[in-house]
Amino acid sequence: MASAVVTRFAPSPTGYLHVGGARTALFSWLLARHHGGDGRFLLRIEDTDLARSTEQATLQLLEDLRWLGLHWDNEQLVYQSKRSHVYNAIIDSLISRGLAYKAYDTPGELAEMRKAAEREKRSFIYRRREIGDEQLRRHESEGRPHVVRFATPVKDYRFDDAVLGPGQGVAADQVQDFVIRKSDGMPTYHFAVVVDDAEMGVTHILRGQEHLLNTVNHIALQEALSYPRPVYGHLPIIMNLDGSKMSKRDRDKKIRDAVKLYISKSKKSPSDVAAAASLGSSRLEGWIKDSKQQLDISEQSALTHVIGLKESDLPEILVHDFRKNGYLPEALLNFLALLGWNPGGDRERMTMDEMVQLFSIAGIGKSNAKFDRAKLLAFNTEAAAAATPQRLVAAMKDYLSINPDSPLNRASDEQLGKILEMKKGFRLLREVDESARFLFAADDQLQYDADAIEKVLRKNDRHGATVLQDVRGILSALSDWSTPSIEHAINTYVEQKQLGLGKVAQPLRVAVSGTTISPPIFQSLEFLGRASTLRRIDRCVALVPD
Ligand code: GLU
Repeated sequence: MASAVVTRFAPSPTGYLHVGGARTALFSWLLARHHGGDGRFLLRIEDTDLARSTEQATLQLLEDLRWLGLHWDNEQLVYQSKRSHVYNAIIDSLISRGLAYKAYDTPGELAEMRKAAEREKRSFIYRRREIGDEQLRRHESEGRPHVVRFATPVKDYRFDDAVLGPGQGVAADQVQDFVIRKSDGMPTYHFAVVVDDAEMGVTHILRGQEHLLNTVNHIALQEALSYPRPVYGHLPIIMNLDGSKMSKRDRDKKIRDAVKLYISKSKKSPSDVAAAASLGSSRLEGWIKDSKQQLDISEQSALTHVIGLKESDLPEILVHDFRKNGYLPEALLNFLALLGWNPGGDRERMTMDEMVQLFSIAGIGKSNAKFDRAKLLAFNTEAAAAATPQRLVAAMKDYLSINPDSPLNRASDEQLGKILEMKKGFRLLREVDESARFLFAADDQLQYDADAIEKVLRKNDRHGATVLQDVRGILSALSDWSTPSIEHAINTYVEQKQLGLGKVAQPLRVAVSGTTISPPIFQSLEFLGRASTLRRIDRCVALVPD
């Protein structure tokens, strides 16, 4: 039996999933799930651009969708690159019916036509150019490269958009014969998307607004092929808070600006920087000059490492960036759901089940959506506070799996549970990671912050260092190494000496963590163990100058 609602997500695999793509996938998934057993959500890989699509990128994409929990219902993934025979059979039949034709224009001729249109201040509209039979035979016998174009019937194309309203589309004078098969023999996006949506029985297409006008081509093809027209809904554009369009290039922009600053301040040449990051120098220089170029994730991280930019200084754009920085998928999904969709009233925090229940196309607005990072961070903080300990340990392990350099990868589940408990109230898993790294450092490798040593331990006649020595004695004599017993012993000392707790806790904190910030100190000491604590105190006291 045919399902009532079939949606799909049809990404072009060029790398990790962009949040805009994730929002499209989420809305399509929610719409299908809202219809329960009558709804299906399908996944199709649009990899007809052979130069840009890679197997690796497809795997990354699937990994992101799985991480988000947006599971698809087709057991066999549809790869467009494997369906050329299907598209070609249909294209051949269109040619034989006179509804499509081979076009032999060279790139030079096309450029000339474009220029002519520009000179005459009209938009370039490609319509069929008659060439004689003889010339056609000559082109064919020469094996001259060609594309296949659809002979688009010239008329107004109008459609109702489920989000943007009726009357979308173009007037007849804007209609042109677009390419349906490229010279490499692959179908274009316009062609494959129409065939596949029809063959997969897709009833509802939700996608980004950048595709709005493409819909005209799709409708024209559907009419020629007698396919039903699905419902179209084009989703609002996602904007940064500064009013610029959120783009996958935002990260590159930030890194590029920082690299330029680094080069001018450090007086290093671009090729020095390139060498330090193991990049080709022409690659780096090309990227610096051309704001359209993008580095891949590994190039980005090599470069940011060299110039001292932290992951947390960069705007997250890809789903992978959010995962790497320690967002929980449930928080990200809840936030993405609100980028254009209003569930009703001022409701914001929702579980996946609630979103499924409430979702409707009617709730999607027309106006641009704002990507408010502070709000997302607040969502994440709340979601982490509400999560069970087991959920958080699982999330932490997932975070660590893509942050292999973190020493927390050596922690047991039980240790991770303790650390997460100590850092209760945290915003991101990255914060938990960074603030707990000192617990996993080798005692003789711990780095001490020189300012902290000066301020907390040396100042006032080495008062802090003296306290530390007293405390060392107390801790080494403790019979029970547990948080309550450590706390009790330190409090007793504080009372005896009539000191504020900070005057004791801060020196201890610097001694064991190297800095003035750490998770709760007594719990940290218990976690670290007595031997490590004492070794660190000794090493630290020895570092305090007279
Ligand atoms: N492959 C297209 C994209 O990634 C799909 C667009 C559509 O949903 O039709 O943008």
